[in-house]
Amino acid sequence: MTDSAAPRTVAFLGLGVMGFPMAGHLAKAGHAVTVYNRTTAKAEAWAARHGGKHAGTPAEAAQGADVVFMCVGNDDDVRQVAGDALRGMKPGAILADHTTASAEVAREMAAKAAERGIAFLDAPVSGGQAGAENGVLTVMVGGDPAAFATAEPLMRAYGRSVVLMGDSGAGQLTKMVNQICIAGLVQALAEGMSFAQKAGLDAHKVVDVISKGAAQSWQMENRAKTMLDDKFDFGFAVDWMRKDLSICLNEARRNGATLPVTALVDQFYADVQKLGGGRWDTSSLMKRLGR
Ligand code: NAP
Repeated sequence: MTDSAAPRTVAFLGLGVMGFPMAGHLAKAGHAVTVYNRTTAKAEAWAARHGGKHAGTPAEAAQGADVVFMCVGNDDDVRQVAGDALRGMKPGAILADHTTASAEVAREMAAKAAERGIAFLDAPVSGGQAGAENGVLTVMVGGDPAAFATAEPLMRAYGRSVVLMGDSGAGQLTKMVNQICIAGLVQALAEGMSFAQKAGLDAHKVVDVISKGAAQSWQMENRAKTMLDDKFDFGFAVDWMRKDLSICLNEARRNGATLPVTALVDQFYADVQKLGGGRWDTSSLMKRLGR
């Protein structure tokens, strides 16, 4: 098992809302970080802030790295970026993917990596932009236990909880459960808030009272009042949620799980997109209910 304090040579590919601060935490923890971002200006800004190096391609960034981290958009992006990174990586290295993607692509990348003697970990995160910036993400990992033992101390730079869930794909499957649980919950919260307003109650006061009882949830604590105030710019976007729910619904078709509420809420998010809310946060389900 690797000493958590031991500095390693690492790369980080994809400096978006999540990747930029995650790579920053690795640099602050003392690791030698080389970054890559498709839009070069972000990589330059990262290197200027954190003093690391930046490279022009994933393969170039990955050269010589013990562990390569990535966080991009969807399955196709993973195939593209991981495919290129693997060409630059040395045998015995580890590729850890923090993108929320399908379990299928995780298994596909793990097989491709294995052909080159490289371990692939699917490692989606939850905790949002604030979790990434504050280094308190939850990281759900699938893959080889020995590779996990090496990568886990590094992931602790930005993860408060970093857990191996099983074989390749198990991290992504766990993240799917997370998204399924959130979808129905946010819709119920939106319905409750809309009802409170239509009933003529002081809805803020309602939240204060019921959030101390059995209806309490993270979403209620953090999003109910912003919903009531018509504020929807708190992180995780509707476009991303639809991508995630589509992954969940596809997986359910394969494993036989029935997800009627998830399927319905997915359609409600499609309504929000039609309202122009693709970049609003997921609590914007309230928008389709009216006041
Ligand atoms: P984002 O801000 O849109 O960043 C996406 C990053 O991926 C950018 O650096 C983008 O490069 C890069 N990228 C995308 N496609 C690429 C491709 N084909 N080739 C090379 N680079 C590519 O997204 P994010 O919010 O950081 O989310 C990243 C992942 O984390 C997603 O899978 C998302 O579902 C998941 N996630 C997000 C949150 C959240 O709250 N934001 C929470 C949990 C999980 P450019 O800069 O050139 O566009």
